[in-house]
Amino acid sequence: MESWQKLLSNSVVKVEDLPFLPDTSNEYREKLKKVSKVFPIRINSYFLDQIKEENDPMWRQVVPTLDELDDFLSEEELLESDPLNEEGDMPVPELVHRYPDRVLLMVNNHCPIICRFCTRKRKIGFPGIVTRETLRQGIEYIRNHTEIRDVILSGGDPLLVPDKELDRILSELRSIPHLEIIRIGTRVPGTLPQRITEDLCSILKKYHPLYFNIHFNHPDEITPEVEKACNMLADTGIPLGSQTVLLKGVNDDAEVMRELMVKLLKIRVKPYYIYQADMTLGTDHFRTTVEKSLSIMKDLQGHISGMGVPYFVIDAPGGGGKVRLLPDMVLEHNDKEVVIKNYEGKVYRYPQPQEKTAQNGKKPSTADEAVAADNVCQLSV
Ligand code: SF4
Repeated sequence: MESWQKLLSNSVVKVEDLPFLPDTSNEYREKLKKVSKVFPIRINSYFLDQIKEENDPMWRQVVPTLDELDDFLSEEELLESDPLNEEGDMPVPELVHRYPDRVLLMVNNHCPIICRFCTRKRKIGFPGIVTRETLRQGIEYIRNHTEIRDVILSGGDPLLVPDKELDRILSELRSIPHLEIIRIGTRVPGTLPQRITEDLCSILKKYHPLYFNIHFNHPDEITPEVEKACNMLADTGIPLGSQTVLLKGVNDDAEVMRELMVKLLKIRVKPYYIYQADMTLGTDHFRTTVEKSLSIMKDLQGHISGMGVPYFVIDAPGGGGKVRLLPDMVLEHNDKEVVIKNYEGKVYRYPQPQEKTAQNGKKPSTADEAVAADNVCQLSV
């Protein structure tokens, strides 16, 4: 057994073994057991070591709380919770075909940790959901649909699939002529970095162009082990991007988010997406307001290099896809000019090109142009 497999097999999966419980009474534990029956527990022993105290950002992500009972009523209701209507876009089991040229293929429904806020909590950690047969049907579907040029392998976590099986899946996908890009969505490098081995890298490097989207939520996740894992992947030639979920009590703070983005850049991961938390049952206590999220994005802009500023998106409830939102930096726009505000709150005027104003029959005089030019970058509040 490799070291990562040992770390995984030593996971905390029972209420009795949870760290730093706020209440050790039997009554409290019984209530937590009710939560864990519908949404299992997994904290692998590497990640367990990163938890320092009750309620710290690592603890909050993986230890169940009674808050999870607040907004679900029954096991059945939870299992039906599909906030992005993925099931409605599945032409075959465990393959989501929402956008014209790309699909999401679930290759596993197990994870290195089970996150309490997971959008797919209806699937994660339960037996018999992703099988060899669902995988076969998914790959066959991609083979038969020539419009698909991009697949994201997801789950669960694709990197928990054993080397040999992952090699087989990637090889089958690469044999499909119209499939150009393979992406892997994973939380492994940040939560079980020992899984990134030389053997794994030598498998992955056979299948370029291959991209990774890695889930990171807090700067404390960037440990020396995680840095080593990301360097190994980057040295294998895999472009690495990050995905972060905005979570109350974990990272809903501009300074925390700034530190995370800066640290990601240092370990060669390009910040890619920050997601507004989805409306999954049992996760309401993690949601932030959209105003709060936009204000964090505003605070990121200008305070770190543009390379470190990810897109902020809401995955539209019910299956509308990702929608990008920007802090409101345009104060006014008309045929003559756009009035914008920078990260310091200073206001600037950007004149429209002449063609635009000419089309409107209002081509400015030379004097107007001079005034407009004078105004650029001068007005501040
Ligand atoms: S690693 Fe991803 S898929 Fe797995 S529980 Fe966490 S958020 Fe869900």
